Amino acid sequence: MTPGAKRNTWQREAVRDALSRNDGFVSAQALHSVLRDGGSPIGLATVYRALADLATAGEADSLQSPDGENLFRACSSSGHHHHLICRSCGLTVEIEAHAVEAWAQEVAAEHGFTRAQHVVDVFGLCAACSTPSPH
Ligand SMILES: [Zn+2]
Ligand SMILES: [Zn+2]
Ligand SMILES: [Zn+2]
Repeated sequence: MTPGAKRNTWQREAVRDALSRNDGFVSAQALHSVLRDGGSPIGLATVYRALADLATAGEADSLQSPDGENLFRACSSSGHHHHLICRSCGLTVEIEAHAVEAWAQEVAAEHGFTRAQHVVDVFGLCAACSTPSPH
């Protein structure tokens, strides 16, 4: 097999498209069901691979949920940013966190670390999900 060959291009396009139409972070499995429901014959392994490719290419953000699940999202910011994610409905807010940037640089420098990078994502319940539903 030729690495980097343009095989599976339509699958990757389909995954990219489905991801951009989704608001929050989704797992490969959830995105796979969306595609299957839309009539696509795409396989789960292909969805995994396409998502990993998109994340590597910087076209998708990826993170790990507190349950250890890999989640993906096509974010509107391409620069460094953080996320607030509702663990109930998946609502995602892209946030900047200047205090975190300063703290990460500082604590790294204190220990003699250079080229420090960090991943900070906050999981919780959004306002709508925090409101108890009336009975
Ligand atoms: Zn993002
Ligand atoms: Zn929510
Ligand atoms: Zn940051």
